[in-house]
Amino acid sequence: ERLDKAERALIARREKVLGPAYRLFYEKPLHLVRGEGVFLYDAAGERYLDAYNNVSSVGHCHPRVVEAITRQTAVLNTHTRYLHEGIVDYAEALTATFPEALSQAMFTCTGSEANDLAVRIARFVTGGTGIIATELAYHGLTSAVAEFSPSLGESVTLGPHVRTVSAPDSYRHSPEEIMEKFGRDVRAAIADLKRHGIKPAMLITDTIFSSDGIFDGPRGFLKPAVDAIHEAGGLFVADEVQPGFGRTGETMWGFERHGVAPDIVTIGKPMGNGYPMAGIVLRPEVIAEFGPRARYFNTFGGNPVAAAAGKAVLDTIRTEGLQQNALVVGRHIMERVKSLSAIHPAIGNVRGSGLFIGVEIVADSTIKRPDAALTTRIVNGLRERRILISASGPNANVLKIRPPLIFSRENADMLVDALGNVLKTL
Ligand code: PMP
Repeated sequence: ERLDKAERALIARREKVLGPAYRLFYEKPLHLVRGEGVFLYDAAGERYLDAYNNVSSVGHCHPRVVEAITRQTAVLNTHTRYLHEGIVDYAEALTATFPEALSQAMFTCTGSEANDLAVRIARFVTGGTGIIATELAYHGLTSAVAEFSPSLGESVTLGPHVRTVSAPDSYRHSPEEIMEKFGRDVRAAIADLKRHGIKPAMLITDTIFSSDGIFDGPRGFLKPAVDAIHEAGGLFVADEVQPGFGRTGETMWGFERHGVAPDIVTIGKPMGNGYPMAGIVLRPEVIAEFGPRARYFNTFGGNPVAAAAGKAVLDTIRTEGLQQNALVVGRHIMERVKSLSAIHPAIGNVRGSGLFIGVEIVADSTIKRPDAALTTRIVNGLRERRILISASGPNANVLKIRPPLIFSRENADMLVDALGNVLKTL
């Protein structure tokens, strides 16, 4: 009671000073004060299982990352215009996780800036302006990037040089259809750009199509689309801001599951486990001409503290075997949710890779009609049981399960048991 009053007061202050653009999760907003591993704690000391936050991918407040940031903050924090080993060590360690051709890295503070830089480079290199993205993609908030982020809805106008293609909806199309359709759609988009006198600069996709509804496959379907953009003289940009850094389990980077070779990869979110850092990894040929002319400088991007945070994250992913953990625990979650679907027909489809899982909630599984209202009740029902997830997709009916990569089998069982209980009550 007392706490509810305190929270109401905080919400009022927040609205007054932050204005109307900010949103809170849940019908009953959460007031978090502390995090540790897979758990978050609210102001009343209640513990929540975090099955949603991908930024703290090696776990909330991981001691190794906290220590690295703290130590470096106390010694030096400048920028990339002075010699420093930290950024070079980190860039070497980072590029070593990529296929050999992707051997250079540049640093920003947010994924939006990384995609903004990618589009600038793509336009410079190709001399084109055209961009192809998926129908409900989110690539970021800058004016340039918002123009090819249709998930922002009516709040932004897509650029006149932007064309969209349908996401690979593996629930409503067979693997064979998607294998054929995605490449064909990209070719049609290229043709339409050309018809309007626009030269294509790039195809950009999130490699697990997070905001489109989480689609992991079929494996290899990106290949014909990437071939098409290359034939048209454009670049392929893989947005790994959400799927990257081992989350999809089988591979460190989502694009590797599809056997394609991006020209530029954009990364962010979990890169510093909460310390704001992002960037691009690219083929040196792509930047050879742009680089010397661009006078690229990012005040905070790649500073010594960011480098220390990033290095600690990479080391932790490796030493704790988190990519493998994501694979094993992710499979366990998907198997268990699939068995729940036998009892609960509202679970229409379970998909994903590693610890990036989508569970599509439908009103009628024969016609696959999305049920956004039920999805909202499930998300809020889980929150009442102190388990945190969210929803995604064009109809907001896909449960988005995207926990820290240290999520254990026991954590997974807690999540799925609670999901079963919530479904029983609805
Ligand atoms: N790309 C993708 C796929 C994302 O999910 C996001 C963030 N949701 C971004 C880019 C933008 O990243 P940031 O919020 O760090 O600017």
